[in-house]
Amino acid sequence: MDKGNPQEEEAFSSSSSQSHVLIFPFPLQGHVNSMLKLAELLCFAGINVTFLVSENVHSRLLLHSDVHRRLSLHPGAFQFKIYSDGLPQEDPRSGHEFLAHLLICLKTTIKDFFLDNYALGPLGLPTCIISDGVMNFVLDVGEEKGIPVIYFRTIGASSFWCYFCLPQLIDSGEIPFQGTDMDLPIQNVTGMEGFLRRRDLPSICRSDLNNNPTLQGIMKETLQTRRAWGLILNTFEDLEGPALLQIRTQIPNVYTIGPLHAHSKIRLAETIEMKKDVVSSTSNSLWKEDRSCISWLDSKPNNSVIYVSFGSLSILTREQLVEFWHGLVSSGKCFLWVIRPESIVDGDGGVPIELEEGTKERGYIVGWAPQEEVLGHPAVGGFLTHSGWNSTLESIDHGLPMICWPYFLDQQVNSRLVESLWELGLDMKDICDRLVVKRMIDELMDGRRDEFKMRAKHFAKLSHKAITSGGSSYSNLDRLIEDIRSMAHKRI
Ligand code: UDP
Repeated sequence: MDKGNPQEEEAFSSSSSQSHVLIFPFPLQGHVNSMLKLAELLCFAGINVTFLVSENVHSRLLLHSDVHRRLSLHPGAFQFKIYSDGLPQEDPRSGHEFLAHLLICLKTTIKDFFLDNYALGPLGLPTCIISDGVMNFVLDVGEEKGIPVIYFRTIGASSFWCYFCLPQLIDSGEIPFQGTDMDLPIQNVTGMEGFLRRRDLPSICRSDLNNNPTLQGIMKETLQTRRAWGLILNTFEDLEGPALLQIRTQIPNVYTIGPLHAHSKIRLAETIEMKKDVVSSTSNSLWKEDRSCISWLDSKPNNSVIYVSFGSLSILTREQLVEFWHGLVSSGKCFLWVIRPESIVDGDGGVPIELEEGTKERGYIVGWAPQEEVLGHPAVGGFLTHSGWNSTLESIDHGLPMICWPYFLDQQVNSRLVESLWELGLDMKDICDRLVVKRMIDELMDGRRDEFKMRAKHFAKLSHKAITSGGSSYSNLDRLIEDIRSMAHKRI
């Protein structure tokens, strides 16, 4: 749907009071996923959307998701605009190095593309920009051109708040850490004193401040949020109320509209009067989903399978892979494991025979799964996750307890919330040991199963309440849509 045909462009620009939102995510799976879901919701509300993505993300969306079929429901109301992320198409896009590359591009080529293109296209200037909250040059443009910019942070409210408190952590001397005790409580993230330890801070806090451009960049970007017209967060009030209370002392206009994956399904079903075929899949996958795992799950008893996935960016060493593998096989449980083809480093090496045998009997390995569907499958009883924010929300919404093995950034915070605040599972951060993996699977799936299941059911209920009519996320999305509409009217 790039560019669109002339008829579509006419519809796109039919009214001078027509709202036109430019949505600009950071080009990563988790960011694109949730911001595309919002884009679709805005289109259903009659708002035109231009969505900026990297060429790599766009071509993979075309190949592996049904996003174009879904967006064709809005002829002329949606267009992609495409830029280069500066890497050859075939290069892997995961791990710390890729993230560092993107952060550099953000200040150079991605920024240049935005400055050259934000006003181009059939509609000219957008009436509102919804930008990933890590691109403060968008705020400069908004201020200069009089376009309201709403930030969208695709992390949780609690992690956002940790980033916001980085200056206090530095001023008080809590970071960089002195000494080696990682279990020391943290005092300068207001509202989280009771449970946050050094090891639970975002992973960027672990390295030297002077030689840490990622920390400096994230801190600077996060503080700029105060300049935005408002802040959208993919979370819900009953989940992160205390952190939201703190955030609102600094940024009064916060729209909590999550969990977006479930919220969008509910809204789309309402809007298109239960055309189930359209809403049964809302995949925005950048990898080909291997659906054979669903038939495999169909053959398993309820709550018998542990689902294992470390998201779209994490990388495991071969040693870590083998530890997880031993733990999974010796747990005696069935397991469905997503291993992205490029996600293992350090080596070849054969697979020990006992692992091969154990996997043949009880395991199933895919390169990429239809995760939302997997998490909702009755056979799945637990989730061993890297604690990415989307995965965390999807698990909560489906009432699934978690074992958390965070890889980096906000995931360190999320995994602590799961264990200590919400009591929805176990935090395995900083440990990768076959015995611990086995012990935690035993606890999650057997020993403390009822306790975790009860908590998970409680939060799933709260999640559902938030996104149904009258709920906090439902009302906030309505308010966001009304605010966007009124921005277009003010422009006339
Ligand atoms: N995902 C998926 N299939 C997989 C693994 C992950 O569809 O096999 C999706 C998952 O549902 C989530 C996203 O990829 O929406 C990953 O985002 P998250 O924030 O959890 O982690 P990230 O990949 O950004 O580290």
